[in-house]
Amino acid sequence: MENYKILCLVGEGSFGRVFKVKKRDTKEIVALKIIRKCGRTQKELTSLRSECEIQQHLHHRNIIQMINSFETETEIVVVTEFCKRDLHYILSKQTYLSEEVALPIICDLISALYYLHSNRVLHRDLKPQNVLITEEGVAKLCDFGFARSMSRGTHVLTSIKGTPLYMAPELIEESPYDHNADLWSLGCIIYEMLVGAPPFTTNSILQLVRMIRYEPVHWPLYLSPQCRDLLQGLLHKDPSHRLSWPRLLKHPFLQGKVSDLSASGVSLPLTKELSASQALAKESQKQDLVHKAEVANQGLPQKIQHILDKEKKLLRGDGLTAIDLETLEQKLSRLQTVEPQVTEPEVTTVSEATQDDPPSETDSERMATPLEAEEWLVFLQQSMMEVMQGDVESMSEKSFITMVTNALTNHGAAPKITEYIACLLALPYVAPGVTKSELRTITKVYIEVKVVSSLMFALKLLTNRAGCSASHDSVSEHSKVTVDQLLALERVLVLVNQLVHSDQVFLSQFCDVVALLHLAPRLHLLLNFHKSKPRLALDLVSILTHILRQMPENANLVDNCVQPELSTGIDWHLVLKFGNKTLQTRTCLLLQLMARYCTQTVQSAWHIKLHRYIDALRFDSSQDLRCAAEDVIELVQDLPFFDQISSQLDDELL
Ligand code: ADP
Ligand code: MG
Repeated sequence: MENYKILCLVGEGSFGRVFKVKKRDTKEIVALKIIRKCGRTQKELTSLRSECEIQQHLHHRNIIQMINSFETETEIVVVTEFCKRDLHYILSKQTYLSEEVALPIICDLISALYYLHSNRVLHRDLKPQNVLITEEGVAKLCDFGFARSMSRGTHVLTSIKGTPLYMAPELIEESPYDHNADLWSLGCIIYEMLVGAPPFTTNSILQLVRMIRYEPVHWPLYLSPQCRDLLQGLLHKDPSHRLSWPRLLKHPFLQGKVSDLSASGVSLPLTKELSASQALAKESQKQDLVHKAEVANQGLPQKIQHILDKEKKLLRGDGLTAIDLETLEQKLSRLQTVEPQVTEPEVTTVSEATQDDPPSETDSERMATPLEAEEWLVFLQQSMMEVMQGDVESMSEKSFITMVTNALTNHGAAPKITEYIACLLALPYVAPGVTKSELRTITKVYIEVKVVSSLMFALKLLTNRAGCSASHDSVSEHSKVTVDQLLALERVLVLVNQLVHSDQVFLSQFCDVVALLHLAPRLHLLLNFHKSKPRLALDLVSILTHILRQMPENANLVDNCVQPELSTGIDWHLVLKFGNKTLQTRTCLLLQLMARYCTQTVQSAWHIKLHRYIDALRFDSSQDLRCAAEDVIELVQDLPFFDQISSQLDDELL
C-alpha cells in the first residue's frame, strides 16, 4: 500500500471502495479497489481471489485493464487502470443521449461483452455504474467477474440492496440462466441512454419485479425504427427468443461499426449459435439442473446428518469460555456444542455447468470452518454484552450492521449464528439505558442496510435446510427442522415482527423481499408449525395482519402465504383448536381483515366446523377474544358465499 498515494475516493459499491491513487515511483495514476476481508467466509475469499486471476487475463480495449492485485492483512486490493467517470454520472448530468452520440458507446459495450462471452465469462451485473467512460469517450466495462463468485441467492439479495433495475426476468425468477441475461441488461442500459430512464422504473421493488416479469416495454416514438428493433430483440422476456450474438452483430442499427471482435481461443464460445443438437442438449441440461436442485432440496436432511457426524468429531473437546451474564447464560451453555454449518444446494446455472470449471465446491469447502463459527459466536456475544451495558455505538454504525447482516445471508452460516445475530439486532430495542435518539439512529441504519431483507433471506436459508423449496413444500416437513433451526427461525420472526410494527419502511421492505425471494410458500409452511412452535405462527399472523391493516394493496401477498399455489390453504380450525389464547385472538383479527381484503381465500377456507368454533369463541372468558370472534362472524355473515354456510347450519339444526 505504501507504494501508492491516495488522491481521492471515486466510488463505493457493494464490494468495496475505489480510490484514485498515484503510484509513487512512476507517478502513474491508477485506481485501487479495496475489498475488506472482514465478514467474508474462506470460500468467498478464495472465490474472490480466483476472480482476480480471471480478470488479470482479460485484455480488451473496452474492458478496464487490471494491473495487479495484492493483499494486506485485512483487505484484498485490486489495481486497475483509472477512468474519469462512469456512465451513471454522465446520464445523471445529461439525462439522455441522441442515437448518434450513444452509438459509439453502444458499440464499445457490445464489443466488450462479445469478448467476455467468447471467453465464457458472464458479467451478471451490467449497469451504468459499471460502465466507465474515458476522457476520449471510450466505454470500458468494470466490476465483472465478482458477481460470479457469489452464490445465486446472494446475487439476488445484493440486487435487492441496490435495485434490480437491470436484472433479466429469468434472474428474478431464479430460473437457470445463461449469457442471455447479460444481453437483457445491455438492452436496459442502451434504452436508458436513449430514453433517459431504464425500461422499467418505480420506487417499489415489488412493483418493479412484477413489471420486469409481465409488463411490456413502452416505446417512445422518437426512437428510430432500427434502434427500436435492436432493443426489442434484446429486451425479449423469454431468453431463448432474445437476439443471439450472430444476429446482434449483423443488426442494421450497428451499421457494422462494432470493431475489435477479438477472436477467442475458447473451444465453445457463448457467442456462437448452437446447432440443433447442442440446443437440445442445453435444454435437457437445464431441465436436469432444475430436477437436480429439487432432488437435492429433498435429500438434504440426510446430508445434514452426514455433515453433523463429520463435524462433531472435529468439535469434540473444543469448548468455549463462558461469559458470565445472566440474560445470556442460557445461550452460552449451548456454545459448548457449536452446530456445524449446513449449506443450501446451489442451483448451478447452465452456463456455469458447461464451462470448464472445476466441479462445484464440495460441502466442506463451502462451509465456514468450525473455528470461524466459534469466533463469530464469541464476537456476537461480546457485542451483545456491549449493548446490554448500554454501549450501542457499533449498532449505529452502518459498516458494522452491514457486516453482521452479510453474515446472515451467508450460505455457510450455522443456525446458531443466525439466532445470535437476530438476538443482537433485537437487543437495542429491549436493553436498558438505550435512549430514544440512539434508537432512532439505529432504526435509520437498519432501514438503510435493509436488515429485514437479510433476515428474510436467512429465513429462506433456514427453511431450505428444512428440505422445502419454493415449488415444493408440505406440512409434513416440520419433522425435518432441527431444534436449532427452529430457534433461529423463531428469533428471526420475533425481530421482523417487531421491526415491521416499528416503522412502515420495514413493512414495505418485508413485502418486497417476500415477493422477490418467493417466500410465500415458506411462510405458509411456518404457519403450519403452530403446534410445535406457536411463537412462529403468532408472529407471522401478526405480521400478515399488519400488512392488511397498513398496506391492503398487498393483500395478494397475504393470500399467497395463507394459500399458496399448488397447496391446500391453512386450516384455521386446527390453528384455533390448538387452544393458545393469544394465537386465537390474533387469528380472529387476521380473519376479520381477510374477510375484507382477501375474500376469495376466506371463502375457500371457510367451513362449517370453523364457523361453529369461532361462533363458540364469542362466549370465551377473554374479552379480547370474544370481541374479535364476534367481529369475524359479523363480517363473514355479510359475505356473498355465506348463504351456503348458513343453509348448512340450518340443516344441522333441523
Ligand atoms: P462494486 O463491485 O463495489 O460495485 P465497482 O468496481 O463497480 O465496485 O466500483 C464502484 C464504483 O467506483 C464504480 O461504479 C465507479 O464509479 C468507480 N470505479 C470503479 N472502478 C474504477 C476505475 N478503474 N476508475 C475510476 N472509477 C472507478
Ligand atoms: Mg459496481
